[in-house]
Amino acid sequence: MHLARFPRVRFAHLPTPLEPMSRLSEALGGPSLWVKRDDCTGLAGGGNKTRKLEFLLGEALREGADTLVTHGAVQSNHARQTAAAAARFGLACEIVLEERLNTDAEDYNLSGNVLLDRLLGGRLRRVPAGTDMDAALERVAEEVRAQGRRPYVIPGGGSNAVGALGYADCARELVAQADAQGLRIDRIVTATGSAGTHAGLVAGLAVIGAEIPVHGFGVRAPKERQEANVHALAVKTAARLGHGDRVRREMIVADCDCVGAGYGIADEGVFEALRLAARTEGLLLDPVYSGKAMKGLVDYARKGRWAGETVVFLHTGGAQGLAGYTSVLEGHLE
Ligand SMILES: *Cc1c(COP(=O)(O)O)cnc(C)c1O
Repeated sequence: MHLARFPRVRFAHLPTPLEPMSRLSEALGGPSLWVKRDDCTGLAGGGNKTRKLEFLLGEALREGADTLVTHGAVQSNHARQTAAAAARFGLACEIVLEERLNTDAEDYNLSGNVLLDRLLGGRLRRVPAGTDMDAALERVAEEVRAQGRRPYVIPGGGSNAVGALGYADCARELVAQADAQGLRIDRIVTATGSAGTHAGLVAGLAVIGAEIPVHGFGVRAPKERQEANVHALAVKTAARLGHGDRVRREMIVADCDCVGAGYGIADEGVFEALRLAARTEGLLLDPVYSGKAMKGLVDYARKGRWAGETVVFLHTGGAQGLAGYTSVLEGHLE
C-alpha cells in the first residue's frame, strides 16, 4: 500500500490519538476498550469525513474544480466538514440536504451542523425525504456548469473508492500506533452508514495483511444491504490499492439491530450510551452515529461477548450536531 500514489491534500490533524477507556471498560466489566479519536481530525470540529476529504479534495483540485457539490441528511456531519474543506481551499460548496427525518423541530432544522454549514459558507438547499439524491446532485452540478463553474461531485458521506482511501490510511495508522506501544488489537468497532469508513478500514487492513476483524454497527440499512454495500466498496478500494482479491466477503460484518426505530431516531439504549461515554470518559458521542455504535458495543459487553479482548472503538465524531437534538435529549440527561 503506497498512498502517496494518490492525489491528496493535507488538513487533517493526524495521527489521531489512541487512548484507553479504562473507566468505561470497568463500568461494563470488560472487554478492554480503547478509543481511536477520529472525532479529533481537526476540520471545523472534526469527524470521520475529514480523512476522506483529503483524498477527495486532492482529486477535485487536480481536476481544476471550483465548486464542491454534495448531500446529506439535514444534520449531516459530512456536509459540515465538506463546507469547511471547501472554505479552506477557496472553493464554493453546494449542499443538498434531505429532510430524512421529516421533523419541523426548530433545533434540528436550524441548530447544530446546519448552523455551522451556513457559518462555513455552504449554500444549502433542501429536498423531501426519499428524493433520489444522486440525481439531485447531478441536477445541481448541471446548474453549476451552466453558470460557467466547475463542479466536483462528492457522493453522500464521501463514500466512494477515493474517499475510502482515507480509512485505508487510518487502518495503517492505527496498526502502527498499536505496534509502537505493544498493544495487541483483537477487534475494531465502528459505526457504519454510507460505508466508506467501514470499507476503507477493511480494505486497508486486508492490503497490509493485519487481519484484525472489523465489526460495524449499522445506523440505517438492514444487515444484508449494509454488508453488501460495504463489501462492494471494500473490494473497489482494495482494487485501487492494487489488491482487490484480498477482501473476502466474510471479512464484512455489520450488526444493524442497534438501528432501532430508524435512521436518526434515538432510543433509551442510545441515550444511555451517550451518558456512559460522557460520564466515564468525558467523550461526546452523537445520537445518530457514534452513540448508536456505542449502544451496540455496550450491549455486546453486557452479554459477555468479546470478553478478554482488546477492542478499539473508532470515534467517528458527530458532537457538533448535538445542539440540533436538544429537544430529543431533554428528559434523558439525568
Ligand atoms: C458519516 C458518519 C458516520 C458513518 O460513516 P460512513 O463512512 O458514512 O459509514 C459515523 N459517524 C459519524 C459521526 C458520521 O458523521
